[in-house]
Amino acid sequence: MFDFKILHTDGEARHASMTVDDKRIETPMFMPVATKGTVKTLISEDLEELGVQALISNMYHLLLKPGIDKIEDAGGLHKFMNWDGLIFTDSGGFQMIRSDFDQKVTSKGVTFDSDQDSKTYEITPEKCIELQKRIGSNIAMCLDYCPPYPADRGELEKSVIRTKEWAERCRKQGENIFGISQGGTIPELREKSCKDIVNLNFEGNAIGGLSIGEPTELMYENTKISTSVFPKSKPRYFMGLGSPIDILECVEIGVDIFDSAYPTRNARHRTIFTKKGNIRIDKRKFGEQQIPLGLDCDCPTCRNYSRAYIHHLCKADELSWMRLASLHNVKFMMDLMEECRKAISENRYESFKKDFIETYKSC
Ligand SMILES: [Zn+2]
Repeated sequence: MFDFKILHTDGEARHASMTVDDKRIETPMFMPVATKGTVKTLISEDLEELGVQALISNMYHLLLKPGIDKIEDAGGLHKFMNWDGLIFTDSGGFQMIRSDFDQKVTSKGVTFDSDQDSKTYEITPEKCIELQKRIGSNIAMCLDYCPPYPADRGELEKSVIRTKEWAERCRKQGENIFGISQGGTIPELREKSCKDIVNLNFEGNAIGGLSIGEPTELMYENTKISTSVFPKSKPRYFMGLGSPIDILECVEIGVDIFDSAYPTRNARHRTIFTKKGNIRIDKRKFGEQQIPLGLDCDCPTCRNYSRAYIHHLCKADELSWMRLASLHNVKFMMDLMEECRKAISENRYESFKKDFIETYKSC
């Protein structure tokens, strides 16, 4: 079962609900990344408490470890990781092509040798969807071909053709699948790839191959092209976008779903999100501050611990600071998305975005 309903629009920004099987979420939404079946340093109960609605895991990583059979034997990924919310799975096409393993990409699919178990894996578009479904993914992502950035026009043209052919084969594998567009930052290729994907009538349409190193203006320009081609009646997902400002800009042009390791990776690198901009908690001055990380944050970290304490844990190399910082950064993203939904519902998205960005850039 798949249902997407727009509840309210404000300009191009949308507040919507998406129901997949028995799981209902509201967009705009941000998904933490659970690449190997966990959001680093956190457990599923934490995510539930933080108000996380959905996660994205990675089929390629789970295939290598612990193996699809093991997850299937455990009763699927939801049961295996004790997570009752929505699970998206990425095909891992992006990682396969960039992996250190010997890999070969042909029109058939991707073949690679894993040094972890000395096996050769062949991932075709058909198999890619089959494996995602076998572990109980609610939304499977197509196998796409994203050339590394920067790529020349010829490579991008090839990737658009290959992505289309693979998407056609993925589409035949059932329902609850999102297509992914490519095309780099060349407007006509981006537009063509979006049209190719839309024609296949997936349940949702995703933007791939952006936010991989291109200038921000080109990223926005090509996102705009994508949302103008993608139908309004279906969810639009920007894969791998995680900075608060970029997300706010893309919500304004009609993107509904985001994911990124950005909040948790930053947390593990001592960078804490606050409404007044990001802070490096290991800086000396924070060792003196007996206040929470976020002054109006009610995450478990901010309810119970001070900046001085977390600063101390960092300096003492006590691993618990990674968890405390990750709890906070993920909650920051959840609060941000909730504020987006509220602002759209109240027809004040533009002023909300402007005020947020102004304050965020203030320090
Ligand atoms: Zn907090």
